[in-house]
Amino acid sequence: MAVDIAANLAAVRSRVAAAAIRAGRDPSEVTLVTVSKTVSPAVVREAVACGATDLGENRAQEFRDKYALLGPLAHWHFIGQLQTNKVKYLVEKVKLIHSVDRMAVAIEVERLAKQAAIQQSVLVEVNIAGEHSKSGVRLDEAVALVDSLRPLSHVRIIGLMTVAPLAADPEAARPHFRRLRGLAEEIAARGWPEVEMTQLSMGMSGDFEVAVEEGATLIRVGTAIFGPRA
Ligand SMILES: *Cc1c(COP(=O)(O)O)cnc(C)c1O
Repeated sequence: MAVDIAANLAAVRSRVAAAAIRAGRDPSEVTLVTVSKTVSPAVVREAVACGATDLGENRAQEFRDKYALLGPLAHWHFIGQLQTNKVKYLVEKVKLIHSVDRMAVAIEVERLAKQAAIQQSVLVEVNIAGEHSKSGVRLDEAVALVDSLRPLSHVRIIGLMTVAPLAADPEAARPHFRRLRGLAEEIAARGWPEVEMTQLSMGMSGDFEVAVEEGATLIRVGTAIFGPRA
């Protein structure tokens, strides 16, 4: 049976709204990033026609190829692990890079953004649970990384991102999301003028409601919209 993208988008949005209201938040504070990795360009177009405003990709070449076909039909987000030599496919084309986790990548973003005479918005990805398999800066190194990014005047740091450990119970993610929000508050308290800590990218198909309750402003949802990936 074909996946009903419109119905799935509506269901996710209503669950987001309910979670926001439970937490005393305005649902409009949460942007749904529809994760279109592995999804064909035709189906991405369909999702946009159904109201998806923001699209997330996790592989730079896949993004490059989709962007060549689809262009700026929605706001694009890059959410995947990033190699320095792939940054060139992203800068200027994506609204937000969620996954800056080391200086070398940030320096390449700076170089390309400066060349394009823009400021590229980024999030710093934090490996909140310290999993060996995960990308992201270590929790105990995150403040120092943000500090070292401050001189990069074409890199606009607007918040933090994390991927919680895979777990059957969404509640297992709550302490990790809470810790990310605490870290953002700790960084904001430094009062660094170059750093905004207004965005928290956390929550996926299995745990986005908990993330919204814990303050997510961007949730990244693929499976709940497109069905399981091949
Ligand atoms: C694939 C992916 C998602 C979406 O995962 P789903 O479980 O399909 O919603 C979110 N964030 C990142 C970084 C991803 O790679």
